Amino acid sequence: MTDKILIVYTGGTIGMEPSDQGYVPSAGLYNLLERQLSHSTRSTLPPHDLLELPELIDSSNLQPQHWTQIASVLKQQWHEYRGFVVLHGTDSMAYTASMLSFIFAGTDKPIILTGSQIPLSQARSDGVENLASALAFANVPQLHEVCLYFGGRLLRGNRASKVASDGFTAFDSPNYSWLGDVGINLRLNEALLLPQSETFNIIQLQIPDFQAERVLVLPIYPGMPSQTLSVLFDNALSGNSAITGIVLQSYGVGNPPDADPHFMALLEKACQRDLLVLNISHCHSGHMAQGAYASGHALNALNVISGNDMTLEAAVAKMNMALTLPLSRQQQREWLARPVCGERS
Ligand code: ASP
Repeated sequence: MTDKILIVYTGGTIGMEPSDQGYVPSAGLYNLLERQLSHSTRSTLPPHDLLELPELIDSSNLQPQHWTQIASVLKQQWHEYRGFVVLHGTDSMAYTASMLSFIFAGTDKPIILTGSQIPLSQARSDGVENLASALAFANVPQLHEVCLYFGGRLLRGNRASKVASDGFTAFDSPNYSWLGDVGINLRLNEALLLPQSETFNIIQLQIPDFQAERVLVLPIYPGMPSQTLSVLFDNALSGNSAITGIVLQSYGVGNPPDADPHFMALLEKACQRDLLVLNISHCHSGHMAQGAYASGHALNALNVISGNDMTLEAAVAKMNMALTLPLSRQQQREWLARPVCGERS
């Protein structure tokens, strides 16, 4: 292993260039960094290499297959580097951070995702600070987990959400304390950091072959067309749809509209057909208490899994991950119900 960090550039605003249609992903980040960073800035960064993916994307086009690709690159390079920085678009960065935390659960090295709101090529870019601090965190030996660094905040990957579309502090983890922050110095909240796992073995780590169209997100809202949804759902399942998991986003502590017979019948059918149904809350902070109200109690009777205090991003990633685990449905259900802090069965 060298003392270097590997930067994996997947696309996103940080490396974008303007075009007639707005910003587009652009290759050649190495040259851009040479141009934008002064010699003195570059000399203070930890030693690093840069690897550009062959197809750079705006992360609003992220697909589950990209998780397989990014994770495979990290696995291939694992022994060569002491830590990793993944440059990613902000739109779906929290989904990828969540997914990498499940794939690399128990990691013995830091994996830090970052990007920027303004491209490095433009005035007032936040890219230099984000990249420099992400590299600094990727160089910290006490960090053994997947984190998202952005705008001064170091967040646990599977707790992070994009909370601001145009502010520099674009991410937060409303249901979990920050793992660290950046002022004049880097500060770590050491008590919260995951311990190094004794059992992590990169050679034996299987990178799942993620597929699109397996997970449906169903947000609940007043006046939802549940009758139409129920017909669409029946059609989809009878036409051999790939959907095998549903993430239900319900109110408050996990309450669905239990007085809506079409909606409840849809959930019942999904559970009877052995789909995994995971219930999370619209609320950004607080825990689920599925069953505190009679409406939520109906979900317990159907075997709907309580998502506890998961973000939407973590729930979608964890559901995709669960569906690839070589376990029975019941075991997948139990794995989904485990608290999110990164462990993998
Ligand atoms: N659309 C961009 C992306 O997600 C936004 C960004 O990077 O900030 O790639």
